Amino acid sequence: MKKILVIEDEQVIRENILKLLKAEGFDVTGAENGAQGLYAAVSNLPDVIICDVMMPELDGYGVLVALRSNPVTATVPFVFLTGKAERSEMRQGMELGADDYLTKPFSKAELVGAISSRLKKQEAVAEQYNNLRWQNGALTPDTAHKLQQIKTNLCNALEREEFQVYYQPQINVQTGKIMSAEALVRWLHPEKGLISPAEFIPDAEETGFIIQLGEWVLQTACRQMQVWHNAGFSLRVAVNLSPRQFHQPDLSSRVAQILAETGLEPSSLELELTESLMVEDAESAIAALQQLKNLGVCISIDDFGTGYSSLSYLTQYPFDILKIDRCFISNITDGCTNAAIVKAIIEMAHSLCLEVIAEGVETEAEKDFLCRYECDTMQGYLFSPPLVAADFERLLLEGK
Ligand code: C2E
Ligand code: MG
Ligand code: MG
Repeated sequence: MKKILVIEDEQVIRENILKLLKAEGFDVTGAENGAQGLYAAVSNLPDVIICDVMMPELDGYGVLVALRSNPVTATVPFVFLTGKAERSEMRQGMELGADDYLTKPFSKAELVGAISSRLKKQEAVAEQYNNLRWQNGALTPDTAHKLQQIKTNLCNALEREEFQVYYQPQINVQTGKIMSAEALVRWLHPEKGLISPAEFIPDAEETGFIIQLGEWVLQTACRQMQVWHNAGFSLRVAVNLSPRQFHQPDLSSRVAQILAETGLEPSSLELELTESLMVEDAESAIAALQQLKNLGVCISIDDFGTGYSSLSYLTQYPFDILKIDRCFISNITDGCTNAAIVKAIIEMAHSLCLEVIAEGVETEAEKDFLCRYECDTMQGYLFSPPLVAADFERLLLEGK
């Protein structure tokens, strides 16, 4: 069922349109002002947006500009509703990226016609895009169809609130105190049970759904952290950012907005990135990182040592924290290679003024080793697996 979002401040008009479109078999949502409309657009991702031009506070033009600057909604077909038939008004809307307009009062046939032609065009564009990818050998018709199906399933799961954020404590190696929590997403599937992110994050990344999911994780984790701050616990939250999220053009303003909405101090947020980002376009990656740093958030390099082991990037990029991948931590105590590597990483990171977190600490012997070589923080099953918020809170209350 195609989803239509109707943003119109006049209740009678809005309800009329909604009723009419519902009768035509569309899945409809109404918003009574620009701000509500924007929120509904980003969280629901409609197939077509119908939006009034003249609204108090955020008007239709403002809504369109905001939608077009967000990669999640940049290409959603947008139809203006206007009371004025003046050409100049129309031009302004079209130049901002509107796809069509309707002049009030319009007939049912005009409204349905405008929506149908937008939907048809959108389908044609999607098909062309997939064709291009087949020609480049990147996609077969079968996989294209499958990917669309996967994306729909993931979108539905987000709508049905099947995703959950778990929190894994990060402990000060010397004091044993919880310093921070890594937010890790899980999918609580109604039939398959708990699904690990390793299974669905690659699909989310491939289909672009990661932008929506990642933003939801960030929002949820920041909101939760603010609740814990208000309860008197001071700790930081680490959120994973995928490559596709990192390449969003308005990433830093989205992060700033989420911090403002949730009230979380920027210094209480840490964003985890992986090494693969560093090899692509160094200059633009450094600029994007610097923008995030300017907000006051911390940046960490996740799974260190598993990617492109050019150490020179550690000095070029403005990182605050280095997370040693768990493959170096296991067996740290029985072979000499991993031990030597971990010792060297800790020493090098400290000399570059980076905090060091060891991932996947499972035994007392590993912990003792890290303590001896002055690793700052550790995370792993030895202390706790990732937990739902209520269980994590219990750990905080126990004062561990
Ligand atoms: P990661 O960021 O390196 O997260 C650490 C992973 O190690 C987590 O797996 C965690 O549960 C697991 N782990 C922690 N301690 C131990 C231990 O002592 N032993 C072992 N064997 N494993 C341990 P998880 O939760 O399955 O997440 C897997 C990966 O999925 C994450 O690796 C991260 O790359 C990705 N991921 C998870 N949540 C998100 C998210 O919200 N956004 C993005 N973009 N990626 C995410
Ligand atoms: Mg991580
Ligand atoms: Mg990791």
